[in-house]
Amino acid sequence: MNEETFPKTLLGAIKYFADRDNSLNFMVQIHWPEGVTCPWCDSSEHSFISTRRVWKCKSCRKQFSAKAGTIFEDSPIGLDKWFPAVWMIVNMKNGISSYELGKHLGVTQKTAWFMNHRIRKAMQTGTFKKLSGEVEVDETYIGGKARNMHKWKREQRIQGRGGVGKVAVMGLLERDGEVRAQVIGEADQDTLHKAVKRNVRRGSEVFSDGLEGLQRP
Ligand SMILES: [Zn+2]
Repeated sequence: MNEETFPKTLLGAIKYFADRDNSLNFMVQIHWPEGVTCPWCDSSEHSFISTRRVWKCKSCRKQFSAKAGTIFEDSPIGLDKWFPAVWMIVNMKNGISSYELGKHLGVTQKTAWFMNHRIRKAMQTGTFKKLSGEVEVDETYIGGKARNMHKWKREQRIQGRGGVGKVAVMGLLERDGEVRAQVIGEADQDTLHKAVKRNVRRGSEVFSDGLEGLQRP
């Protein structure tokens, strides 16, 4: 998509992305700028099954959608909602509440909160891709030894949840240097497992520091 075709108004964005082909093409452009490749084996030999809107890899024979390997993968929310949400979060300079987001998208406030949260996180890391490769999982606490925690604390405060004692933070460190951290409410294993699943691409090796029982997601 070039600048001329990119929707300039919210109504334009909603209309544009409501067209499933537009949504799909946009996803392909940001996810695979060099051309579609299989997320399982990296092959670029595949066929598109238009009725199901998925690709079938000719090499490993697995199927994959445009959401595969992205933060959108494990949610039932369509790209026709995700992209207008991205548009709003990026363009509304004064910020947008989950309530407003939900109203514009026609989703519940809870869903809108989830989308808002996930999109903002992606904007911080600069990618909609899930982390891949070797990942280290590290559990720490705000106020503890971790160096970057003040940033997260600030965000917690903005969201109105600060100052409630210790908040568990899980940092996922990609070995090649990209760091992604996630604030979670509690530090029990179940919560961590879920967070790892959400953020790490299937097939990545997960290394745990002080946590037992973490498996490949
Ligand atoms: Zn493949």
